[in-house]
Parts: sequence; structure tokens; C-alpha cells
Amino acid sequence: MLFSAQKAFDHIRVMAKDIGIRAGGSPEEKQAAAYVERHFKACGLETSIEPFDVEIPGKAEAAVHVDGLGELQARPVCATASTPPRGIEGDLVFVESGEEVFLPRSKPGQIFLLYGELGAPDKYEPLMRSEPAAIILVENSRFIEPRLTKLSNEKRDAFGAVPTVRIRFEDGDKLMRKGCKRARVVAKVSHEWKKSQNVWGVLRGTEKPWEEIVVGGHYDSVWGGYGAQDNAAGAACAMELARVFSQRGSKRTIRFCTFGCEELGLRGSTAHVENLRKAHAKHVAKKRGKAWKMDWSPLERTRLMLNVDLQGLLFGDNYCPVGGPAELMSACKLLASEMGPAMRFDDECYSSDNTPFAHAGVPTAAFGRIGVELMWAHTPADTFDRCWKDSLAPIGHYLETFISRWVADPKSFPFKREIPEVHAKKVKEYFKGRVFGYVEG
Ligand SMILES: [Zn+2]
Repeated sequence: MLFSAQKAFDHIRVMAKDIGIRAGGSPEEKQAAAYVERHFKACGLETSIEPFDVEIPGKAEAAVHVDGLGELQARPVCATASTPPRGIEGDLVFVESGEEVFLPRSKPGQIFLLYGELGAPDKYEPLMRSEPAAIILVENSRFIEPRLTKLSNEKRDAFGAVPTVRIRFEDGDKLMRKGCKRARVVAKVSHEWKKSQNVWGVLRGTEKPWEEIVVGGHYDSVWGGYGAQDNAAGAACAMELARVFSQRGSKRTIRFCTFGCEELGLRGSTAHVENLRKAHAKHVAKKRGKAWKMDWSPLERTRLMLNVDLQGLLFGDNYCPVGGPAELMSACKLLASEMGPAMRFDDECYSSDNTPFAHAGVPTAAFGRIGVELMWAHTPADTFDRCWKDSLAPIGHYLETFISRWVADPKSFPFKREIPEVHAKKVKEYFKGRVFGYVEG
């Protein structure tokens, strides 16, 4: 095996510790992109930066004053709305987790206290219809500070928004037990458009360069977290696989990628798939030659996408959701039986950069390590020190073998470019339900 857990581990250290928080659209995310590009170049790959626009929060401040408790620590949910400078005062109404059945009749000046998140459109729409003056979200874990999150612009544009802030779990608990009745919420939010980027390193196939696969993982982190397990570790696996295959070669083209802004709603992978779709539309519109069926668009050339998101956990369960033909699922399973690690397989829709590809008809398999340590994900506790080097070897060796056996070496590519109808439906529902936004209030 060529895959080195130590080398992957070193990439995690640079990204999650030396560079640190790599929030979408930030200078640190750009710094990490430059690091990945240097690595791809050093491997001798053709590199490119794929830019895209992303909306990120500007200045964000919040405060919550509660009669009988004083001022509570609070963070605003970005891209919602600001209050007047003095804030909004009103009656506190506990609406449980905020589903429609818990909502009161709309009355002016109510401040909703909600446990959890603003949620998907089918929850968010009735919430907005009941016209709260402001919303206070109680964090769902006692281990975390109020997080800095963002409402998706798609949801805001579709349903509107009211000033929304997050408070600590303990403060929400105290406030309820004391029976506090009134509060004043102050929130100041703004947003701006920035450039982010995907980083590509392409290894041209020596025999069938027109058959391409994508191997990737996102390199950005949430605003408040170092994103070591999620997902410097996954990006590091893709980077180390790039080194491995640049040495051993491949009959087919392998396009390695680290995606930007996954945590803001799969923005990087979505931007890439959009670019593929546009190029495809242009490609089919132009008059093709006699052998036009041989002349594939970049989207048609993309036969498979392997995504690595969430790795490096000491205690964890390996999980592999597959969205592709039966042979792909079988290949994934058989290889795990042959060499490990033990994995759980299903055909669920994994909320990560594989999903936009599946949406465009490209078969996908995602590789995550999940379990108890997921409690660190999207928090400041997801640090380099938590990453466990020895957990990288089994998945690295598995992927090296998988790609060698089914992509780099075989005479014919073994997986049809098709997605089972059930999976396609799940992916469609996913995009409909989310209207984007992975970490959001
Ligand atoms: Zn992730």
C-alpha cells in the first residue's frame, strides 16, 4: 500500500491547526486552498482553481435581556434580520421545537423561544406565518456556546425572516424553570458576497482519459470550528490519494478535488455541477460530428464520484451510503469484506458534496466515520488533537484498493452510469426539503 496515514495526518495538522478555522469565503479558506494547490502541483497534477460566489455573514452581534435574569450570552443567526438598535421587547412564548402544532395564534410582539433549529421549509414556512417579532433558539447541547450560523438566502428569499438569535442550553433551561415572561432581543446582522473556490488536481488517464472519476472532500470548516474531523481529515485523504495515484498511474482520468463552502450548503460542489451542466448544454447544442456519441461532455465523462467527509475519529463507525448501480454497491461491500474496515452500507442521501453529483446523474459513494464523536462536529471542539492517526489507514487503504481495482486498472469500467430510482427520489426530496444550508438556524 502506498497510502500513508502519517502523510494524511500531516495535512490535517496544517489545515486544522496551523491555518485553523477555514470558514467559507474567508482568507483562511483561501490559504488552505493555496496549500492544497501546492500539494497537487508537487504531485505533478494539472491544477486549477474553480471560483464561485458565496454569501457570508458580515458584522454580527446579539444580546438577550430577560426580566429577572439579566443579559444572556447570545449569537445572531446571520442573514435573518436586525432589530432596531434598542432591540425588540415582547412576551416570551415557548413553542417547543417550533413545528406547526406548537405555534400560537399570531399576535403582535411575541418572542418565540424555540428548542433546536429553524428547520426545513415545511417547518419554517408556518413559523414565519405566525409572525413572531423575534426568535430565540436554545442550543441543543449543553457543551456548546451559542453558535454563529446562517439562514440560507434561498429560504430567506422564499419566506422572509425575523431577528433570530441563539442562546446557551443552560440559559434556556434557567429561563424556563424561572418562568420568565418577557425579554428584549437585540440583533445586528449583515451579509456580503465573497469569492470561494474548489481546488482541482487532475491525473490524466493513460488509456481511457475520457472516462473520469472525481475523488473529493470539502476543506472548509464552519465559522466557529476548526473542522479537523469535519473535514480536514476527508480532504487530507483525497490529497494523499492524489499523491498515491500520481505515482502509480491510472488508465482513467482521476480528478481530485477539495471543495469550498460545503458547510454553507454544499456551495462548492453545487457550483461545480452547475458548471458541468452548463458546459453540457452548450456541448449538446453545438453540431456534433458523425461519431457524436463518442464526443462526451464533461458531465457525461464523469462516471463516478467518491466523497470523503468526516474521518479521523478515534471511536467511530464506518458508514458508506451508495447512490449508484447495484454493481457499485456490491463492489463497495465485497471490498470491505475482503480487507475491512467493517462498514455499514445503505442507499441513503448523505448530506455532503456527493449529493449535487447524484442529482446530476453521476453515481456516488460517500465515506464517513460517524458515531459518538459527532458531538464535536460543527463546534470549536473539533480540533486537530482529537484526530486519531491510526483511523486513517483503514479507510485510506480501502480507497486506494477500490480505485486501483475498479478505476485505475480494469480493462472496462465496471459501473454503469445510472442511479436507482429510489435513490434519485431521495436526492430530489433532499434538495426540495433543504432549500440548501447545512449549518443554519
Ligand atoms: Zn463535512
